[in-house]
Amino acid sequence: MRILVVGAGIIGAALADRLARPVDGGRPGAGDTVTVVEERWPGAGTSGTSYAWLNANDPADPVYHRFRTAALRAWRDLAAGFGDPSWYRQAGNLVWATADEAKARLSARVDGLAGLGYAAHLIDREESRALEPALSAPRDALFAHFPDEGHVHGGPAAQALALRAQQSGADIVTGHRAVRLNLRGDRVTGVRLDDGRDLDADLTICAAGRHAPALLATAGITLPLVDPAAPGSAAPCLVATTTPAPGALNGVVHAPELSARPAENEALVLECDDIDAGVDESVPAEQIRAAGDELLARARTLLPALTARVAEVRRCVRPLPADGYPLVGPQRPGLYTAVTHSGITLGPRLAELVDQEIHGRPAEALAPYRPGRHG
Ligand SMILES: Cc1cc2nc3c(=O)[nH]c(=O)nc-3n(C[C@H](O)[C@H](O)[C@H](O)COP(=O)(O)OP(=O)(O)OC[C@H]3O[C@@H](n4cnc5c(N)ncnc54)[C@H](O)[C@@H]3O)c2cc1C
Repeated sequence: MRILVVGAGIIGAALADRLARPVDGGRPGAGDTVTVVEERWPGAGTSGTSYAWLNANDPADPVYHRFRTAALRAWRDLAAGFGDPSWYRQAGNLVWATADEAKARLSARVDGLAGLGYAAHLIDREESRALEPALSAPRDALFAHFPDEGHVHGGPAAQALALRAQQSGADIVTGHRAVRLNLRGDRVTGVRLDDGRDLDADLTICAAGRHAPALLATAGITLPLVDPAAPGSAAPCLVATTTPAPGALNGVVHAPELSARPAENEALVLECDDIDAGVDESVPAEQIRAAGDELLARARTLLPALTARVAEVRRCVRPLPADGYPLVGPQRPGLYTAVTHSGITLGPRLAELVDQEIHGRPAEALAPYRPGRHG
């Protein structure tokens, strides 16, 4: 089968790697050819700016929680295959709450997750200091630790996966955009590139992230993603990266007013929901810079010894399905779509399931997440 993957973010790169690589014991797709078309370079899209926390940290929907837990396992397996890659860390997640209501919510979350068999513990302040010695947290905070969670550096991870796919025989076409899906009747037969070339395929997989609706629309297909241009849209968000801050953090940290994690080159990635809420596309550049300064100020409160500065503030857009759940499955003959929020967490697991499914074994785990579920 000739498989064409559009997009080399974490979803497309993990898929290409999975599909191109011979797996122990062989598998039905061993004779496939895999081509990836990527407008810029692997990891250049949302995956490269993501907060990229690997987690299944919500017990509210046990089916989705299990789906995500399987994804954490898939990451462990994938990373093991690379040795100990610097772009993957299962270094845990430390959370604390200070307000009474937030403490009650955190405690209920730990109970709910532990009840589902997930590693989730309330810990005391001394234990939190052992995990993250540089942090300064209020004495009366309630602390929780989730040791099986982690983070990745999305850009390098997508690049490593795309490179391994290429080394396994995939053709990675970068610097070209798929401007439309090609059709024969109802069947998608590949894509037209921005230089006029047609790439033919038996199966085209749309892994174009936030840009998927535009590509699918060329064949009259809709995908329900939150519109980033709508006033007050939840899709745009803001991430700041600092200059190097050696030893500042070991793993992911969620404090009441800041989320932070280690980045490449010993820098930090900083984010916070209340700041995300004010960064839609109408917000001017100086306001974005001010938001970065605010994130840094919060980081300095959290990490009193921090001397790092803001290196970069980026407004980015999540590929956010309208109901928050993945959109994965066939949409037309010859066309399969794989677009999701939490794509960093889910990427390698989706690659396993899509591989299984396009080779004739429907994946029950994907049944709730079909693109056509909205009618
Ligand atoms: C600030 C922020 C925080 C986040 N936090 C988390 C988190 O903590 N945990 C988590 O799991 N997820 C998180 N996410 C979500 C996660 O980052 C995304 O779900 C994931 O990166 C999506 O990957 P993707 O491969 O689908 O998209 P992308 O990484 O955007 O990749 C799509 C690629 O397709 C290419 N492309 C698009 N259209 C075309 C075309 N027509 N032709 C050729 N190429 C094309 C683009 O150039 C791009 O490289 C976060 C996202 C953001 C923005």
